[in-house]
Amino acid sequence: MNIFVLNCGSSSLKFQIMQTDLEMIEKDQDKTIAKGLIERVGSQSLINFQVDGRSPIKLATPLRDHRAALLYAINWITNPETQIPGIESLQDVHAIGHRVVHGGERFKRSIRIDAAVISEIEDCIDLAPLHNPANLKGIYAARDVFGQTIPQVAIFDTSFHSTMDEVTYLYALPYQYYRRYKIRKYGFHGTSHRYVAYKYRKLAGIKKEECNIITLHLGNGASACAIKAGKSIDTSMGMTPIEGLMMGTRTGDLDPAVIELLAYKEGATLDEIFAILNKRSGLLGISGLTNDMRDLIEEEQEHSDRRATLAINMFCGRVRKYIGAYTAAMNGVDALCFTAGIGENSAEIRRRICNNMNWLGVELDDELNQQAFGGREMMISTPNSKVKIYVIPTNEELILARDTCRVVLNVQNPAN
Ligand code: ADP
Repeated sequence: MNIFVLNCGSSSLKFQIMQTDLEMIEKDQDKTIAKGLIERVGSQSLINFQVDGRSPIKLATPLRDHRAALLYAINWITNPETQIPGIESLQDVHAIGHRVVHGGERFKRSIRIDAAVISEIEDCIDLAPLHNPANLKGIYAARDVFGQTIPQVAIFDTSFHSTMDEVTYLYALPYQYYRRYKIRKYGFHGTSHRYVAYKYRKLAGIKKEECNIITLHLGNGASACAIKAGKSIDTSMGMTPIEGLMMGTRTGDLDPAVIELLAYKEGATLDEIFAILNKRSGLLGISGLTNDMRDLIEEEQEHSDRRATLAINMFCGRVRKYIGAYTAAMNGVDALCFTAGIGENSAEIRRRICNNMNWLGVELDDELNQQAFGGREMMISTPNSKVKIYVIPTNEELILARDTCRVVLNVQNPAN
């Protein structure tokens, strides 16, 4: 089955065409045959398309909106000159899988999209005003471009965390706000945490019920997840992705009284304050330089920049705090699994996070740690380390494609 996996952000469109079916899933043989990224949708867009095994095509062209961007991608995919193996026309795409950020309490697993599902995703806009509208644009555009008959599936970032208990997901607000507005912790990056847990089980050769780990998705957005007996029991992001770890440009955990003080002192509106919390805080806000961890490490090493060091130390400190909290919540942990841009590539950040954690039984092997970057999947703890440490490059698209395949074939999803 050729699955078109689509991930629409507010001004970007990311896609992959993946070949998968139940046998390929079982044998772990599914593969990406083409992929693309269109950035700056709505102005002079930047295109990066690639057929597996060939060099990427990069160019710039104006694309008005998500529909125009999707049409542009489809024209490339079906152009005879592109020659994607097995794809000659739109009919060779058998299903579409959409990443949807917020599924609220309604969507505990991936689901086939119909009018009712679309309207329920629309209902979740209040909870994710930045993300769900972009995802919906992708769904509307795909309906227009591919037609009504092709199966389309929604895969939610929140679903994996639907196993959290109310003791964990409730905020200690008056209970009626949960009842009235569904204000609670939902968690995000679910497909990534789920993929990493799945991969860890395969590497460790254990069953789902035996999987007791903390997954650390450290990219520009960052979150930690406590996975006990294969299920998410807690995660650091909350009702929205702001909560939890310090991120590239987001604050993470913050006393809500700060919002009041900022409004009072700066005369800022709520929109302005939330722009500060979402876009000008985190690594960028503290360093005053950049949200890019690579550049911060360089600034620290080459110019001994004090605030670059401060930003890095705060970032690592928060991660350590969550590891401690989750270890307590889980009554012990078998492995820490690092993933995403920083987690997969930065030996220095992993070192600082795992430093001085012998009390917990965490012992990093410095040499192995240095070798883990650029997509390598490996264990980086010493043989004596009671808690194993892994680097597992994430692959959210694989989960999107597999879920799409299973939903279309009406097969119960075993991983969620
Ligand atoms: P997102 O998907 O959330 O936008 P990514 O998972 O792509 O983010 O991660 C981006 C982050 O990863 C950036 O801060 C980038 O600097 C960091 N990163 C990538 N490679 C390295 C590296 N070798 N060392 C340190 N940080 C890195």
